[in-house]
Amino acid sequence: MQDLVDITIIGAGVVGLAVAAKVAAKNRQVYVLERHATAGQEISSRHSGIIHAGIYYPENSLKAKLCVAGNRLLYELCQQSSIGCKKTGKLIVATSKEEAEELEALMEKGNKNGANGLKMLSAKMLKQLEPNIEGVAAILSPETGIIDSHALMKHFATRAGSEQAQIAYMTEVVGIERADGGYRVEVKDGEGGFSFITRVLINCAGLSSDKMAELAGIGIDIDDVGYRLHYCKGEYFSVSGDKGKMVSRLIFPVPPPGLTGVGIHVVIDLDGRMRLGPSIRYVDEIDYSVTDEHKQLFYDSVKGFLPFIDYDDLQPEMSGIRPKLQGPGEDIRDFVIRDEGDRGLPGFMNLIGIESPGLTAAPAIAEYVAGMVDEALSGS
Ligand SMILES: Cc1cc2nc3c(=O)[nH]c(=O)nc-3n(C[C@H](O)[C@H](O)[C@H](O)COP(=O)(O)OP(=O)(O)OC[C@H]3O[C@@H](n4cnc5c(N)ncnc54)[C@H](O)[C@@H]3O)c2cc1C
Repeated sequence: MQDLVDITIIGAGVVGLAVAAKVAAKNRQVYVLERHATAGQEISSRHSGIIHAGIYYPENSLKAKLCVAGNRLLYELCQQSSIGCKKTGKLIVATSKEEAEELEALMEKGNKNGANGLKMLSAKMLKQLEPNIEGVAAILSPETGIIDSHALMKHFATRAGSEQAQIAYMTEVVGIERADGGYRVEVKDGEGGFSFITRVLINCAGLSSDKMAELAGIGIDIDDVGYRLHYCKGEYFSVSGDKGKMVSRLIFPVPPPGLTGVGIHVVIDLDGRMRLGPSIRYVDEIDYSVTDEHKQLFYDSVKGFLPFIDYDDLQPEMSGIRPKLQGPGEDIRDFVIRDEGDRGLPGFMNLIGIESPGLTAAPAIAEYVAGMVDEALSGS
């Protein structure tokens, strides 16, 4: 590794890899540092795999804009490559008159955000589309779908590599300090460790992104600036037998108030397997285990709109941890994606709180960050 490089990215999840693929062109030396042996072992392999349409997020937020843009970019990418995806469509189903009223506001929000093709369905129209679903009304989102996120990450890694970016696995960032010409990055690897200087440093460290911002302690107090993450666990239960074939679209409830999550929903993967999730529970530790403990909660959450599900159909499957800026009981927070130049750290770019719809938004986040990088490098 050279002593001075142009761009260093911390983290080879879907976001770090998408950014690497985008910024690696233009003859720049780009390094991606990843503490695990392979890419995407943390948040990017423990999610629903849904290409969201951009319905839920506050108007003009980065979440809304980058989700809508990412949705389009992902479908284009899948068409041009061998990445598996399917535009399944999705239904947000109301099971009461009160919920049906909430659908109106949700539809308006989605339309304002630019989510394409949303349509309000009556109970009769819902039955025609999905005869096994119970509901009094629904929103149909035809642009929602599912994607093979591992193939997507492989695609970004290959593209980054073909532009000479290097991904160093088993390489953990343990120190960051301001240095002449950029930032000195200290890493620990299998052979001990080393350090080098990078002109631009991009923090895509997912669940550790607040820690990385703190590591560059020269200027950022993560509590003062609101960067401290709260871990929020989402569990999934698989649905056994042939019941997965009883719906052909992704089925969501009307989201609970506060938008901590979008509610336990039906996820169908590219092989047609059905699972339910993710639940919402703030936790202190990263522990991915799932037991029967919350099975009743899952059953109760879906039985209103999925009458064909029996309690015994549900089996604990997997879980993921969300990197939330929004603490328990707080309002929804937007993604943090910024160059910290105004805090005296030019060329240090923080991406923090990249929870859902981060998978969908990844290619749009990469374009956004590439603009920031061009600006930083042209000014240095
Ligand atoms: C339960 C759940 C369901 C979700 N469902 C969806 C969905 O359906 N659709 C959607 O669009 N989004 C979804 N998301 C969000 C999406 O999965 C994430 O936004 C996205 O995967 C985040 O990617 P990332 O690259 O930021 O993080 P990660 O994939 O976690 O990557 C960060 C990487 O940084 C590395 N790292 C951390 N610290 C260091 C260090 N010091 N040195 C070196 N490497 C380091 C980690 O090892 C990791 O590989 C979901 C998330 C969860 C948790």
